[in-house]
Amino acid sequence: MDAYDMERLKNLLLEQRQEICRYRQDLESDWQALSERDAEKEEEAQKADLTCLFEQLDNREQEEIKEIDRALTKIATATYGSCEQCRKPIPLERLEALPSTRLCGVCAREAEKEQRRPGVGTERGGVR
Ligand SMILES: [Zn+2]
Repeated sequence: MDAYDMERLKNLLLEQRQEICRYRQDLESDWQALSERDAEKEEEAQKADLTCLFEQLDNREQEEIKEIDRALTKIATATYGSCEQCRKPIPLERLEALPSTRLCGVCAREAEKEQRRPGVGTERGGVR
């Protein structure tokens, strides 16, 4: 994966993250204050923005944020884009569709099978 793709996927992840946060922050007037801060505090604001109101998110959203953060960490440490199970590179199309995925298509299907035990019933079925 070249630097350009990496940057693109990173932006996708950040967008996804912000979308989840923004959705929750609609009722928060803090949001406005955050965007009005000066450039010097930009970094701080960004941090606050990224942390957002984690506690207010529901479980699924928290999971999504965690997955996104994980992927962002992997980008930072240059370990992004390979499957955590088989260590093979994850195809770019899959990363574009699911930038926070940790598994390649093959391993994801395997994991899904395992999760689909009757009675366990997670609403969204875990791995997408
Ligand atoms: Zn794999």
